[in-house]
Amino acid sequence: MSRVLSQKIEFVKGVGENRAKLLQEELNIKTVDDYLNIFPFRYDDRSSFQLIKDIRNDENVQLRGEIVSIDKIRGKKSNRLKATFKDSTGFIELTWFRGIKWIADNLQMNVPYVLYGKVNQYAGKKSIPHPELEHEQKFNQNANFLSIYPSTEKLNQRGVSMKIRRSILRNIFALISKGDIVETLPEHLIKQLKLCTRYESYYWIHLPNRQEEILSATNRMKFEELLFLQLRILQQKKQRDLQLIGLNFEIVGKYFNKFYNEKLAFELTSAQKRVIKEIRRDMGRGIQMNRLLQGDVGSGKTIVSLMAMLIAIDNGYQACLLAPTQILAQQHYQSIVESTKGLGIRIAYLSGSVKGKTRKELLHYLQEGHIDILIGTHAVLEDNVIFKKLGLAVADEQHRFGVVQRSKLWTKNNDIPPHILVMTATPIPRTLAMTAYGDLDVSIIDELPPGRKAVKTIHKNDAYRSFVTKFMKEEIRKGRQIYIVYPLIDESENLDLQNLQTGYEELLQSFPKPEYQITVVHGRMKPQDKDLEMQRFVSGKAQIMVATTVIEVGVNVPNASVMIIENAERFGLSQLHQLRGRVGRGADQSYCILMTKTRLSKYAQERINTMCQTNDGFKIAEVDMKLRGPGDIDGIQQSGVMDLKIADISHDSRIMETARHFAINILDKDPNLEQPTHLALKNHLSRLRLKNKNWGRIS
Ligand code: ADP
Ligand code: MG
Repeated sequence: MSRVLSQKIEFVKGVGENRAKLLQEELNIKTVDDYLNIFPFRYDDRSSFQLIKDIRNDENVQLRGEIVSIDKIRGKKSNRLKATFKDSTGFIELTWFRGIKWIADNLQMNVPYVLYGKVNQYAGKKSIPHPELEHEQKFNQNANFLSIYPSTEKLNQRGVSMKIRRSILRNIFALISKGDIVETLPEHLIKQLKLCTRYESYYWIHLPNRQEEILSATNRMKFEELLFLQLRILQQKKQRDLQLIGLNFEIVGKYFNKFYNEKLAFELTSAQKRVIKEIRRDMGRGIQMNRLLQGDVGSGKTIVSLMAMLIAIDNGYQACLLAPTQILAQQHYQSIVESTKGLGIRIAYLSGSVKGKTRKELLHYLQEGHIDILIGTHAVLEDNVIFKKLGLAVADEQHRFGVVQRSKLWTKNNDIPPHILVMTATPIPRTLAMTAYGDLDVSIIDELPPGRKAVKTIHKNDAYRSFVTKFMKEEIRKGRQIYIVYPLIDESENLDLQNLQTGYEELLQSFPKPEYQITVVHGRMKPQDKDLEMQRFVSGKAQIMVATTVIEVGVNVPNASVMIIENAERFGLSQLHQLRGRVGRGADQSYCILMTKTRLSKYAQERINTMCQTNDGFKIAEVDMKLRGPGDIDGIQQSGVMDLKIADISHDSRIMETARHFAINILDKDPNLEQPTHLALKNHLSRLRLKNKNWGRIS
């Protein structure tokens, strides 16, 4: 860093000892460089003037005029200062509640001022409290956009106003020259993308004269930030690829081919074929696979994972498939046993409820290599579950799986870690995937099996309950089955269960036994009871299943064609989408009915609208990210990649794509950034590394 930038802020004109101390305490600013790196969060537009006759409540306005009267008003509790401001079109009142004496002494009547402030209307009368006033001769015609910075109570009290913050900046820019703000991007990139220089970006972001300068500065800064982020992620990924030797599955043999040619009941979608190819390539290059498989609910991820497991078996290895719940694990077990009948593959099921002799035997067979595929819950991760030769571990519904649990899989083979395939139905917006999972390989199944009809989604409030009941009866008459889901925020919350219980009892009135059979499933039930109840629904004995969100993940009952979600306003978008994915699996028209109370918050309304408008999981994920902010998306918080200062991945996806594109290009040509044109990149990257020591820990 240049000498000027590393200088203590204290020595900049207009700062001094006291303000320097304040700036350090309040904003952690020590050096000139620190000062320059606190960016405005908005700008006051001072490029035009308004007329008093046109101004409206709640608006920021800039006026030209004079003060024609000043009055001190004594109140019961406190005093205030009142002045009348006049322009060619009318009068408006100015008021002050603090610092009255100083202001009264300094205000001048009948001289031209430029005023800026926010209009406040009270009891029909407009006024401007605490306006900024400046003599018109002193007013800087060029400074049209005034930067506004994050501040603190204390800074405000001690008079470190925005005006002063900006004047310090002007003094800083008088001290430094263009060379002090060292360029970090190669010249060809700046030219090609028509970016401003780094010096310009700093100048314009703080002291812009025109809107275009703000745009140009932020654009360049965001690009720079995201380019370095991508360079870092891509380099890390390359590093990892070099280090992690993996099993080399060269053979695609008997099991895979036999299954593909004789057992597969349907034609794979082209997306499934593409993903299987990606996985095959990944597992056959001697590097450990770490792949995230994203696919909307119902897109057919299970079959893809099964075929990957068959490759492992073809190569003499075992495979395992982990699911977050017993219900789901069991369903996988049953459907995989069914679909591989006659292939001679040995499949076993393990969960916490597999005990005693059965368990002991299973563990023994597993260790001896007599089991090819182990399907189960977290129980598979326990230390005494030992494989002979584990070649592939698949984790379904990744967001229910902690990072720690996933990393446990790595140690399940003796020397070389198994290949890892993580599957998720929660679509991750592309830009987020590029950062949070930037160093994982991502496969996407972006196509549903043919013949599926899009689920129709309808929003109803409680007033329409009888309509819903009638509709349910019609569907049941057609032979369909129905889910009714209640929110369960916290499994221990009695109130939630009570909702479900009341709902169930009301339902019994409209759907009496024995004509109708209703099953109830919730998280507080014993696993055996739960499975029994589930089974009643899966087998078709019960037409209606009342449940909490236990059924959220993975259950597959193709005959169920109606999903009713109670208190839908209490669910998040991705959860609603997951739930809706439980229907629409058969050939019949399916429906999702979102039941809510009448009055909804703005965000709840937007979630419901989004659900009614689209079935596209990726679109829903984008909206979700915008509504909640990326920090709330599962698994992102711990990832440590969100320390962006100026770019915002939920809004700057276009810039992110560009940055990733160029980062890939640059590293393709020059992996270690050794060419002279990339020297600036290399230097800045290592500077950033020094600043952020925890980068290395990102998985
Ligand atoms: P998810 O991706 O949500 O895990 P599944 O793997 O459970 O989806 O698949 C949903 C249903 O679609 C299953 O019944 C499965 O057999 C079926 N399926 C999968 N792929 C195809 C395909 N290519 N054509 C027709 N049906 C398919
Ligand atoms: Mg699934």
